[in-house]
Amino acid sequence: MKINWIGHSAILIEDQGKTILIDPWITGNPVAKIKVEDIKKADVVFVSHGHGDHGFDDAVLICKNTGATFVSIFELANEAKGKGVEKVIGGNVGGTAKASDIEFVFTTATHSTTVGVAIGFVIKLPSFTIFHPGDTGLFMDMKLLGELYDIDLAFLPIGSLYTMGPLEAAKALELLNCPKVVPIHYKTFPVLVQDAEEFKKIAGPMVDVIALEPGEEKEI
Ligand code: ZN
Repeated sequence: MKINWIGHSAILIEDQGKTILIDPWITGNPVAKIKVEDIKKADVVFVSHGHGDHGFDDAVLICKNTGATFVSIFELANEAKGKGVEKVIGGNVGGTAKASDIEFVFTTATHSTTVGVAIGFVIKLPSFTIFHPGDTGLFMDMKLLGELYDIDLAFLPIGSLYTMGPLEAAKALELLNCPKVVPIHYKTFPVLVQDAEEFKKIAGPMVDVIALEPGEEKEI
């Protein structure tokens, strides 16, 4: 499985011929090194909530350009449909659905949003089960997610102010019972945490913290 941290919360993953994107904020993202047009192939595009830094507009474009399925909370998925995206799955917290043979679960996020509610995703890719919580604070039910789903890799916000910071994200990892983590939603803006050092320290040596640079690709 190949992961690419586009920057902020935006992730591109290729796994056994499947390509997915999560929160693909590219246009206007100060750390993104690609353009929306560079994305030629995508099967499923996930959007956690409607805030501008999570890429709803770019997700709509990518889905139109590639024929990918747009996945989000029901209300935001309806908006994508209204903008002409053909394949759309709108779900709600606790539900499971499938697109391009990839099963995913809509999970809780404790965060505000523009429409519907903010959510996260557990996504069962061919090689790995991943968790991308969108923007969220720490919440105890992450323990349930860890018990129900065998999460191999989590993408966790560590930037603080709008989401969890290093301390809370390290606790989240413990609740999720997850061995690998890619920190996200930091160093995009000056108000956010600027590096992963504190998070690495608190998470401890038993956890594999994969701190990427924006645009960096890694085989896992
Ligand atoms: Zn947000």
